[in-house]
This record gives sequence, C-alpha cells and structure tokens, in this order.
Amino acid sequence: TTAQIGVTGLAVMGRNLARNFARNGYTVAVHNRTASRTHALVEEFGSEGEFVATETAKEFVAALERPRRLVIMVKAGDPTDAVIREFAPLLEPGDMIIDGGNAHFADTRRRERELREQGIHFVGTGISGGEEGALNGPSIMPGGSKESYESLGPMLEKISAKAADEAPCVTHVGPDGAGHFVKMVHNGIEYADMQLIGEAYQLLRDVAGYSPGQIAEIFRTWNTGRLDSYLIEITAEVLSHVDAATGKPFVDVVVDQAEQKGTGRWTVQIALDLGVPVSGIAEAVFARSLSGHAALREASRGLAGPKAAPLGESEAATFADRVEQALYASKIVSYTQGFHEIAAGSEEYGWDIDLGAVSAIWRGGCIIRAAFLDRIRAAYDARPDLPSLLSDETFAQEIAAAQDDWREVLVAATRQGVPTPGFAAALAYYDALRAERLPAALTQGQRDFFGAHTYRRTDRDGAFHTLWGGDRSEVTA
Ligand code: NDP
Repeated sequence: TTAQIGVTGLAVMGRNLARNFARNGYTVAVHNRTASRTHALVEEFGSEGEFVATETAKEFVAALERPRRLVIMVKAGDPTDAVIREFAPLLEPGDMIIDGGNAHFADTRRRERELREQGIHFVGTGISGGEEGALNGPSIMPGGSKESYESLGPMLEKISAKAADEAPCVTHVGPDGAGHFVKMVHNGIEYADMQLIGEAYQLLRDVAGYSPGQIAEIFRTWNTGRLDSYLIEITAEVLSHVDAATGKPFVDVVVDQAEQKGTGRWTVQIALDLGVPVSGIAEAVFARSLSGHAALREASRGLAGPKAAPLGESEAATFADRVEQALYASKIVSYTQGFHEIAAGSEEYGWDIDLGAVSAIWRGGCIIRAAFLDRIRAAYDARPDLPSLLSDETFAQEIAAAQDDWREVLVAATRQGVPTPGFAAALAYYDALRAERLPAALTQGQRDFFGAHTYRRTDRDGAFHTLWGGDRSEVTA
C-alpha cells in the first residue's frame, strides 16, 4: 500500500494528527524514533482507518506516494533538524516536508532555504488546538510555497476545524516562515487574553468580593455575549471546580506561579526587533515571569499597600459590568497589537499576509477561538489596508462606549492595590495613540541636549540642533 501522507513523531500531537488523517479517509504511514510508539498507535487505533506502520526511515519514505508528504511532529528545535537530516537524503525533488512543531520562524526560514536547494518543499506549519484539536480539528497555519499548498491544502482543509459557517480553519498564510510567525503571534495573543481574564477574575474577587463559584457564573454569563470564546468558557469551568482532597476551590490550591514554553516570549522579542509596540502581550509575559519569582515575592510581602474596603453588595454587580467593558476594550487592544505585529512581519519578510484570512482561520480549533474573530475579519474584509484595528469604526465605537467603565475599573484597581498590568497597558496604548501631543517631543529635546542627536520641527522640514552649552541658538544639522 502507498500512503498519501506520513507522520513521524508520534507523541500526543503526532499520534492524534495521524489519527485525524486516517479518520478522514487517508492512508497514513506512521513512524517514530522509538518504534514501540508506532506499534502502540496501530494496535490501539488501527481500526479507525488505514495505517502503515514503519520502523526505519527508509521504510517510512518508501511507503509514501509521490510527491511525498511527510509531516514532522517532533520536539521543536534540534530534534527537528536531526529528523530533517535523517529524511532529506531519502527524498526527491517535489517532495514535501511539513513541520507541524512549534518552530521559531527564523529556523523555518533557514530550513526552507536549505531544502529548496534540494528541490524539496519545506512547509513550516503552525498547528493550534492542543491534543484535542490535533485529533478533532485544529486551526492550521501553513507557510511554504504556493505550489506545496495546492497539493496539501485539500488534505489540511479536511482535517482542520470548521468555523461556525463551515469554512475550514486553514489558509496558505504565506511563503517560508509566515505560518510559524502567525502561530507565534497567535500564542502571544493567547497569553494576553489569559492575562486579561486573570485580571478580571482578581478584580471580581478582591474588589467586588465574589467567590470563585460566583465568578464562574459571571464568566458563564459573559460567554453568552460578545466575549463568547473558548478561553472564557474554560475559565468558568476551572473556577467552578472544587478540589476533591480539601473541598476548597481548585483555584485556591494551585501554586500561583505560571509557566511558559517560549512562544509568548518570542512574540515580544520579535516585536522589539520589528519596533512594534505589543505592550499588552509583553505585560502578559512579564506577569507570568513575575509570578514565578517566589523568593522575590516572599521578600516583598511586607511592603505597604492601600487600606481600602471591598465594595458593598449593590456596587459589586455594577462593578462586574464595568469589568466586562474593561476586559472587552483591553481585548480589542491586544488583538490590535498582535495584528500590527503580523502586518509588520509580513512587510519585513515580503509575505503578503491577508490579515482577514488569518482572523478567519482562528475562529475554530485554536485556543483563542472566539466570536470576536468574525468581527475582526469583517473589519479587514471591509478595509484590507486598515492601518489598525482601532481605526475600524465598529471597534472604535465599542471602545468609546466602554472607556468610562474601563477607566473606572483601573481607578478601583489602583485604589485597592490590585495589579492590572494588562488592562493598564491596553488603556495607556489607547490613550497614547489618540493623543494630540506626546512627551516624545521632550524626549527629543533631552536627546539633543545630552547627545546632539538633533530633532525635527513641527513648522519646518529638516534636522535641527540647539547649542545647549552655548548661546542656545538653533542650527540646521
Ligand atoms: P514532544 O514535544 O514531547 O516531542 C516528543 C516527540 O519527539 C516523540 O515522538 C519523540 O520521539 C520525538 N523526538 C524527540 N527528539 C527526537 C530526535 N532527536 N529524533 C527523533 N525524534 C525525536 O511531543 P508533542 O506531541 O507534545 O509535540 C510535538 C510538536 O508539536 C512539538 O514541536 C510541539 O511544540 C508542537 N505542539 C504541541 C502542542 C501541544 O499541545 N502539545 C500544540 C501545538 C504544537 P521518541 O518517542 O523516540 O522519544
């Protein structure tokens, strides 16, 4: 038998992806460095479809129809290079290697370039949705050549998640590293969403005085409105869960130190390189990092804080409505920043990414799936050259309606000493963008003072310098 697709790397993700292909009627060759995993897969799930179990790289490659489609689902980093080194010599021009791991897009660009010399299509592909998504339909973000997408697209469309309108959650994002870049920003936005939800929870608890169970109900209500999303849904599930051993709310028995695997950090690092202000995503990454500094937090516990009483019962409900407004407005800002980074990456690397199509494929399968993404797509469809999501009229109006509550929530947070870096960074970004004048003019003056770095004037073209150490007259630079 010849297989239409092969999957190597059969840990949770690879195994489920292989099963997804098989369940959709494809014959799937399977391979893993440790062959026991391969046999376990076929033993356990062989009845779901057609699998070809292979033990050696040669057998695996020989099992594939040509041009070959070979999916790598191994640990990202050096293992990916090791697997490519193993398989590439066995392949022929026109064959495709699909890397579905969480690779850094710069690695993907390098691998694509190297394999292109051999005539092999390297398709760096972002896959979101975790274990469950890999099995039942992930959101898929393939990069690589257009030609490879012609062959792969129909298969990926079949195994992908479907949005509410039945559209498959996959599109050819752009050449070489574009898919992994977009997956990276997806994860950065995911960090920001989670941080904002965390802040909303903390405010409802510490300012409004609600219990985790009550807050779960509030999130359930929010999930029926414009915040309708997977992350809000699971937040309610986690908050209503009670620890069996102690009878306490689950959220109170978990160590409050958040971990990370790196894609959020990459999003911020790359944004710094591209000069894109992703302050909300950065605050989310820093908030996780701060939470993990146990000794530092312990040493700081005695520091003074405000003595403000929590709200009374009648004010609490109003406050909860305000938090919903603040959360929604801050969410618009996070996505504004994330899409700015994608636009900047697309510009820098000549990817020509369609931002509307990206928001469309995030509507299903992935962690940030949300009703909200339909509206982002509508905004970009109406105006593909939209300078920023905030320039979309609908979003601008929604923020205008939310801003008083957003500000009130931050006042309350500040007064009560509840840290809200995500909400605050989002509001600062919003206020800075809409400001008539920024103190950047003063910064330029200081730079010219100490370093003769020159400045531009509002009333004339050219670069100028003031003789700060002399008579303070102005010269053209
Ligand atoms: P892991 O990241 O834990 O990787 C384990 C797999 O990699 C095993 O099949 C292992 O083989 C193989 N492997 C490791 N090193 C080598 C090597 N040097 N040579 C050959 N094979 C090697 O598995 P996951 O399923 O969690 O993830 C797979 C990929 O998918 C990763 O890149 C991950 O970042 C990405 N991803 C994961 C998601 C998730 O929710 N887990 C979501 C989206 C993407 P062996 O059995 O022989 O040890």
